[in-house]
Amino acid sequence: MNYNRHYSACRPLAYQAHIAVRRAVLAGDIPAPSTISCVDCGKDAQVYDHRDYTQPLAVDAVCRSCNRLRGPGHPYIDKPLEPDRRVKFRDMLKKHPRGTMAKVAAACGVSWAAVWQWGTVPAEKALAVERVTGIPRHVSRPDLFPIAREALATTEAA
Ligand SMILES: [Zn+2]
Repeated sequence: MNYNRHYSACRPLAYQAHIAVRRAVLAGDIPAPSTISCVDCGKDAQVYDHRDYTQPLAVDAVCRSCNRLRGPGHPYIDKPLEPDRRVKFRDMLKKHPRGTMAKVAAACGVSWAAVWQWGTVPAEKALAVERVTGIPRHVSRPDLFPIAREALATTEAA
C-alpha cells in the first residue's frame, strides 16, 4: 500500500513540487540535500523544504528537525490534512498478514469487533496502530500528525 497516495491526493501541489525536486536532484540541477548544510541551523541538511509549493524549485535545504519546525508551505499553511473517511481502518489492513487486526485489538485493549468497526483510527490509538502495523500516524490521523510532508520528502530525497 502506498501510504503517500492519500497525502498526494490531499496536497497535489506539494506532491508535484516534491517530484520536481527529486527530478532536479537526479538530473544534477540541484545538489542532493545530504551534501549541503541546513540553512536554518547549519547541521547537515537532509531534505528540501518548500515555503511555496507553486514554486517547485524554490527550495531550502534543511535538516529534518528544522523541516518539521517550518511546517507546510503555501498554500497548505494552517491547513491540516483531513483523515480520509472513505477508507476504513480494516481496509488499510487488507495487505497485512492475517491476525494483524487481532494484534491491534490486543495492543489497544479493545475487542476485535471494535477494531473492525473503526472508520477513522481513534486519536489515542494512532501510536499503538503505528507500532503494530507500521501504518504511520500521519496516515491514520493526518489531522493530528501533519508530518506527512517530512516523510514524503525523506523518501523523495533518499
Ligand atoms: Zn536544521
